[in-house]
Amino acid sequence: MAPEHLSNLKETVLAELMYEGDNEGRLPPAQTWADALRLYVGSKHSFECEYLNNRKPNQYGHAFLRSLSTREGAKIEDPATQALQFDSTDLSWNANGPLLQLMPPSGRPDGTGTSEVAFLDGHMKRQSRDQAFSMAASRSVRKK
Ligand SMILES: [Zn+2]
Repeated sequence: MAPEHLSNLKETVLAELMYEGDNEGRLPPAQTWADALRLYVGSKHSFECEYLNNRKPNQYGHAFLRSLSTREGAKIEDPATQALQFDSTDLSWNANGPLLQLMPPSGRPDGTGTSEVAFLDGHMKRQSRDQAFSMAASRSVRKK
């Protein structure tokens, strides 16, 4: 089933994969990730979270996981469980930080109790904070 409309987060994650392809496999710098991906995305509006319906002008709502800044994507194990971009409490342009910055369900005006998380392999999933954190924790356990 092909969706007719790519969600905004999906669009910026696909942009990230294109950026990697053009930059020797490296992810963008966290501090300027949105500027770096802007070239690959039709409109600045694609950086906005559609589910944040009380957003003000120049607020966006998606953040880039800071620990992935300029890393080589292909060298990161198990990309399907590695969070990359997520609904964020920091609504600014180029927002970046740890997964702890994931928007809590109480901050979601859509009442779903979950937040969007996009992964390094390009797929996207709505997760509760607990689900997102336990996925990240099981990655760090496996690394030891
Ligand atoms: Zn979102």
